[in-house]
Amino acid sequence: MDCVFCKIVSGEIPSKKVYEDDLCVAFCDLDPQAPVHILIIPKEHIESAAKINSENSGIVAHIFEVAAKLAVENHLDAGWRIVCNVGADGGQTVLHLHFHLLGGRSMKWPPG
Ligand code: 5GP
Ligand code: ZN
Repeated sequence: MDCVFCKIVSGEIPSKKVYEDDLCVAFCDLDPQAPVHILIIPKEHIESAAKINSENSGIVAHIFEVAAKLAVENHLDAGWRIVCNVGADGGQTVLHLHFHLLGGRSMKWPPG
């Protein structure tokens, strides 16, 4: 399958990994939008959050546990943001479910 994040999972494409377990991988975004910008992805190829169902939703809870851990490790005590873009209007460019963990600066709301 021609999926850039599956290739990051397999190691075919190099990345700066900051966390890995049986279910997910976290690595630094190539084009960081904040001092801390980590992508957390399931190892399993799931196209987007639109494909989450009762069979696979456990990975989302697991990824949020990992996000909370990474936020502590990165000293994001003042706060952080987790973003999941879905589909074209949502701004999703890579069709493998991923969560952006952003922190280290004050965030604006609403996003553009
Ligand atoms: P999306 O726009 O789909 O929510 O986010 C995709 C993110 O993946 C973007 O922030 C982009 O910078 C990042 N990205 C795309 N290709 C690569 C890559 O090969 N390596 C890494 N580390 N990040 C990537
Ligand atoms: Zn994939």
